[in-house]
Amino acid sequence: MERNIEKKDSNILIIGCGRLGASIANSLSNRNKNVTIIDINKDSFRKLSPSFGGLALEGDATNIDILKEAQIEKSSVVVSVTNNDNTNIMLVQMAKEMFSVDKVITRLYDPERESVIKEFEVDIIFPSILSANEVDKILSM
Ligand code: AMP
Repeated sequence: MERNIEKKDSNILIIGCGRLGASIANSLSNRNKNVTIIDINKDSFRKLSPSFGGLALEGDATNIDILKEAQIEKSSVVVSVTNNDNTNIMLVQMAKEMFSVDKVITRLYDPERESVIKEFEVDIIFPSILSANEVDKILSM
């Protein structure tokens, strides 16, 4: 029988409750995952759906105390999707080096920044490359 590699009660930590972060948080919460989301601006939490069942923490995620409050040590997955590449790069390094998080996912606007975190095992989403591929696909139809 195929098993879900993600432990049922492990925490998923999302950093940045913008359009992308909130959408991921809402979707995981709907699937009954334990979700914690951090944002520096509490107004951002308005994007969470009324049925969101996780924990929303206001604060700067580059502050270690906030990460500890969000129980990063107990998180099997960290998704860093702030709107700042430098912040995301710093958070990837912290999650991997200081807290040994298994799975780390981030978004980088500038594909050239990949080299800075290539040494870490991290999944990176590049919106510009994804969009360019979609445009190519549409044009080749
Ligand atoms: P968006 O551009 O819609 O994906 O939103 C990005 C989100 O990241 C915004 O809600 C920002 O307030 C949030 N953000 C930016 N920097 C930080 C930070 N250092 N810690 C936590 N959240 C942040």
